[in-house]
Amino acid sequence: TAAVHDAACIFCKIIKGEIPSFKLIETKHAYSFLDIQPIAEGHTLIIPKYHGGKLHSVPDEFLADVLPIAKKLARALEVDKEGLDDPIGYNLLQNNGKIAHQVVDHVHFHFIPKKSAKTGLI
Ligand code: 5GP
Ligand code: ZN
Repeated sequence: TAAVHDAACIFCKIIKGEIPSFKLIETKHAYSFLDIQPIAEGHTLIIPKYHGGKLHSVPDEFLADVLPIAKKLARALEVDKEGLDDPIGYNLLQNNGKIAHQVVDHVHFHFIPKKSAKTGLI
C-alpha cells in the first residue's frame, strides 16, 4: 500500500519535516516524537506514515510498525522495569473521533510514561 499524505495535515507535515518535531524513533512506516503539550515527562506520539483519521482506516502494514516503537520507547524512556519502592509504568492511548477526545485527524498513539500517581490522565 502506498503512503497517503494530506497536504493540510499537521502530522503529515511533521512526517515530511515541514513542521519541526523532537523525533525519538522512526521506522519505514511510522514516526514518533514528543507531544508539544505533554501530560507527563516523555509524553510521546507514535504515528503511522499514512494519513488516516481513525484506526480502522489505516492499512495494517503501517500499524505494524507502531507497537514495536512503543516497546523501544519503554526501554529508552526507562519505564520498562517495575521499580519496587518507586513504581513506574506507561499508558498507551489512542483516541478515535471527536466524542472520544480526538483533536488531530491523523491516527496517533499517545505513549505516556507513568512515574507518579499524581500526573497524567489515567
Ligand atoms: P488527540 O487529542 O487528538 O488524541 O491528541 C493530539 C495531540 O497532539 C495532543 O496531545 C497535542 O498536544 C499534540 N499536538 C498537536 N499539535 C502538535 C504539534 O504541532 N506538534 C506536536 N509535537 N504535538 C502536537
Ligand atoms: Zn496526516
